[in-house]
Amino acid sequence: MARDHVDVLIVGAGLSGVGAACHLRRDCPGKTYAVLEARGAIGGTWDLFRYPGIRSDSDMFTLGYSFRPWTDPKAIADGDSIRDYVRDTAREYGVEEHIRFHHRVVRAEWDSATARWTVHAHRVDNGQDVVLTCSFLFVCTGYYRYDAGYTPDLPGVDRFAGEVIHPQHWPDGFDHIGKRVVVIGSGATAVTLVPAMARRAAHVTMLQRSPTYVIALPSRDVVADALRRWLPPAAAHRLVRWKNVLLGTANFQLSRRAPKLVRSLLRRAAKGRLPAGYDVDRHFSPRYDPWDQRLCVAPDGDLFEAVRTGRASVVTDTIDTFTERGVRLARGEELPADVVVTATGLNLLALGGMTVAVDGVDVDLAGTVAYKGMMLSGVPNLALTIGYTNASWTLKADLVATYVCRLLRHLDATGDQIVTPVAPPDGRRTPLIDLTSGYVLRSVATLPRQGSRAPWRLHQNYPRDVLLMRHGRLVDEGVRFSRATAALPSTGTTANPVV
Ligand SMILES: Cc1cc2nc3c(=O)[nH]c(=O)nc-3n(C[C@H](O)[C@H](O)[C@H](O)COP(=O)(O)OP(=O)(O)OC[C@H]3O[C@@H](n4cnc5c(N)ncnc54)[C@H](O)[C@@H]3O)c2cc1C
Repeated sequence: MARDHVDVLIVGAGLSGVGAACHLRRDCPGKTYAVLEARGAIGGTWDLFRYPGIRSDSDMFTLGYSFRPWTDPKAIADGDSIRDYVRDTAREYGVEEHIRFHHRVVRAEWDSATARWTVHAHRVDNGQDVVLTCSFLFVCTGYYRYDAGYTPDLPGVDRFAGEVIHPQHWPDGFDHIGKRVVVIGSGATAVTLVPAMARRAAHVTMLQRSPTYVIALPSRDVVADALRRWLPPAAAHRLVRWKNVLLGTANFQLSRRAPKLVRSLLRRAAKGRLPAGYDVDRHFSPRYDPWDQRLCVAPDGDLFEAVRTGRASVVTDTIDTFTERGVRLARGEELPADVVVTATGLNLLALGGMTVAVDGVDVDLAGTVAYKGMMLSGVPNLALTIGYTNASWTLKADLVATYVCRLLRHLDATGDQIVTPVAPPDGRRTPLIDLTSGYVLRSVATLPRQGSRAPWRLHQNYPRDVLLMRHGRLVDEGVRFSRATAALPSTGTTANPVV
């Protein structure tokens, strides 16, 4: 068993974990750190997902880091470019050599007397168990299970003679040229897959139980293109990032305050891109209000274009049963298929599946309240990154990492070693994620909760969070600072732990 101690242990080497390490390098250069990553690669989501057309839904000026400009001409980028961007960032900031791959963290135990976490990881490559200690645990494990995507009950699927593929487990080199494809689902993945597969398939049908809002946006940002001609990359990135933040915030606020208006604008925009006489209401007008669930983006209107040209079609119905040759619908129609793609979603997973104990008592996550959306009541020296539901993930990830660095510097300056969030005194609690999407509703009861007011309430509002997390007070009614009661062990601190 190897045992090392680091000041900060980051779990996960995706966008958030790599970003967290870069922030530490920049803002707390004296701190030792390591990154434990369960997989054998950097990039998380952007390395895992390999389905045709995989791309961002957000613009890359906000999905990219605040500190490293996005210079690619495409504002909505493909998965490979995003993965390269995260990898290049890790290389540029010297983070790569701090990452220990194939280390799945399974448990973390906090000891208040020594102000330390003991972290247990399982090596997925050689089966060894590894134990490390750290003073601060920074959990950047994303929000879903990596080993299995969500597939609902598919009646009669065993009878189907074709292939059934989940987008999270796309077979290497799978060829769909000339095949009849049915994509089940209506979320961002389905909206991405349908036009991408339609380019080479015989035909693609998007089979949805109910519609989603789909908005066509340009894949290039003309303002960014213009600014880049005149300004250095960092300045252009910062300006375009703020432009997009403000536009996104305005769009969200308008949707919440005038849902009928936004609903009709979205309907009109979709109608304008679809063939005359198309049943827009049936296939593109959801029952819920805009932003009750995330809006789906069609870059340059690619989904509408695929429908207009007849290479793809949308069917809104429920599945009666799979047959040998395809899918039979509740209304009796049968969709012939060689391939069925189940774009039916993710399984949410908090803290990457690790269990957590504080002073010998296991923590029930559902019993905790999130503090500023990034720490948990009763759990000392632990932060977690959960991105926005109505804006790019990285906007929040950057703020959380900035806040953690501020906290660490505050602890050093005061001589305290422990920061523990406390639950709000009133008993009012609401779900941490307020979307009505199926993948959220399936798991929300197992997740931490949020309170009814600051600093326990999430506002899903970046400008407001900038004030709170970059400039707001560190000492408030939601946290307690304290010191270790026992002498701190002096064993094995390694500035750059051996990988
Ligand atoms: C298909 C898809 C498209 C998306 N598009 C967008 C978008 O356009 N805009 C947007 O804002 N968000 C989008 N998201 C959300 C997306 O997950 C975030 O953008 C971002 O990639 C999250 O980064 P992360 O590092 O926090 O998590 P992840 O990318 O999930 O990375 C987490 C890392 O932690 C590792 N890990 C997990 N558990 C453990 C453990 N126990 N021990 C060790 N390591 C562990 C994983 O192996 C992984 O490498 C999308 C998500 C998906 C699935």
